[in-house]
Amino acid sequence: MYPNPKTMLYHESPFQLVIAVLMSAQTTDVGVNKVTPALFAAYPDANAMAEADVADLEDKIKTIGLYRNKAKNMKKTAIMIRDEFGGQVPNTREELEKLPGVGRKTANVVLSEAFGVPTIAVDTHVERVTKRMGIVPPNASVRETEEILMARIPENRWRDAHHQFIYFGREYCTARNPKCRKDPRIDFCECRVLPQYG
Ligand code: SF4
Repeated sequence: MYPNPKTMLYHESPFQLVIAVLMSAQTTDVGVNKVTPALFAAYPDANAMAEADVADLEDKIKTIGLYRNKAKNMKKTAIMIRDEFGGQVPNTREELEKLPGVGRKTANVVLSEAFGVPTIAVDTHVERVTKRMGIVPPNASVRETEEILMARIPENRWRDAHHQFIYFGREYCTARNPKCRKDPRIDFCECRVLPQYG
């Protein structure tokens, strides 16, 4: 169904990807993509964003959730990339997770998308879909979900699988009122958690 999945977040560099993923917490990718072109036109790299006025960052991203906190973290992240990593986004998990606002999920996305390191980032869609499908037990933590998926999916498919679960979760296995009943192609789920939807 999704043979060549790609991240939907607009970006033109690893730095812009870090900022876009950081902004995407509890916000749709569509919402992030509405603000990033103007944001990145004004602040295209870490050096530029490190010098930004936080009030201007807030103004440029004010349509997305938690924008005040995100604006602060964006500036702090830009300063750290400029001062501690020579202006380049680091390419190890340990260093990425030092950046303000960057947790394991964001680090996984950046490692995978920007540096080609195989990872499976577990977001709300990946967790919901894989639990409903019965690939992951319902009580697994986010970290356990990641480990189970890495054990069950060949490494060369981790990146694509991450995107494919997200695409499928957005299109069919939605949080409310899944659309699977309306499409005869969706006959592969066991849906052990929500059998009423199967
Ligand atoms: S049967 Fe429907 S609700 Fe269950 S996992 Fe598949 S798409 Fe999701």
